Amino acid sequence: MNIGVIGFQGDVQEHLNMLKKISRKNREVKTVDVRRIADLQKVDALIIPGGESTTIYKLITEYGLYDAIKQRASDGMPVMATCAGLIIISKETNDERVKGMGLIDVTVKRNAYGRQVMSFETDVDIKGIGRFPAVFIRAPVIEDPGRSEVMAALDGTPVMVRQGNILAMTFHPELTGDARIHEYFISMAWGRGGYISTADVKR
Ligand code: GLN
Repeated sequence: MNIGVIGFQGDVQEHLNMLKKISRKNREVKTVDVRRIADLQKVDALIIPGGESTTIYKLITEYGLYDAIKQRASDGMPVMATCAGLIIISKETNDERVKGMGLIDVTVKRNAYGRQVMSFETDVDIKGIGRFPAVFIRAPVIEDPGRSEVMAALDGTPVMVRQGNILAMTFHPELTGDARIHEYFISMAWGRGGYISTADVKR
């Protein structure tokens, strides 16, 4: 199964490293640095990393990936989006420079944690995963999770959500040594048949 990471800017290498760590245990997992439509065509699932949402937004739009990702995700491709990535896939943002793709029914506000606590680390309890060390870096705030399922919240504010094939969080799991969220995402992709080994084909 090929997992892509949008490779223009932000925590690209960190996500690729995490996936490579998983692929040492499971050889079926392969990574693709996605910067062109042709790269996107190769992937079964996609990660949109954290970084600067206005920059990533500009580049994916320039390379035609904005519409292509939207199309593939609506066709069911699993997408995991972290921080800036979440802003890009949201339904609504408070910044007109980043038009949300509407892949998830979430309204976000950029850079909405107070200045003094713009970056911090704390444990969060994630449904189905457990306690997880969450690193927040100038994170957006999920103002309204809409119809998405809240998987984790901090002081009543959602920080991780899922809606069908879309998984998103305001923190950075790629900056910890903990691969459970990436593994969860891979199992989501697996579940929808992104990967079919000949042993699984019973017909
Ligand atoms: N502040 C960034 C933005 O709004 C997001 C921060 C991040 O991805 N760590 O684009």
